Amino acid sequence: MQDCLFCKIIKGEIKSKKVFENESVFAFEDINPTAPIHILVVPKKHFASLNEMTPEDKDIVGEIFLAAKNIAKEKNIDKSGYRTVFNTGPDAGQAIYHIHLHLLGGRKFSWPAG
Ligand code: AMP
Ligand code: ZN
Repeated sequence: MQDCLFCKIIKGEIKSKKVFENESVFAFEDINPTAPIHILVVPKKHFASLNEMTPEDKDIVGEIFLAAKNIAKEKNIDKSGYRTVFNTGPDAGQAIYHIHLHLLGGRKFSWPAG
């Protein structure tokens, strides 16, 4: 999508600190981390949020979680634990409308979420 920040990051038009890439997903460090490990995992196919997910996106959402799991192991937070979050819409504070999974770790998180 032309004016999408994350599409531009995926294409390399805007710099990012890439953590992982394969044919369907791209992962990079969050520019404003809220935990010692804060990585965003995004599909290369643009869709705005979980609200726009279609049955044909089932595999890609699985790929996103598989990448997050592998990155968590690489970053050594698989045993200590981590949080994976899709923010959807205004009440969840979604700021960028290209779906992205937050992978957060390296500290304790409270529950229920704030
Ligand atoms: P959300 O509020 O769920 O839409 O999350 C958007 C996330 O994107 C925030 O955590 C931002 O810090 C992050 N972000 C915004 N711009 C960039 C960028 N250029 N590179 C990396 N992360 C970014
Ligand atoms: Zn996009």
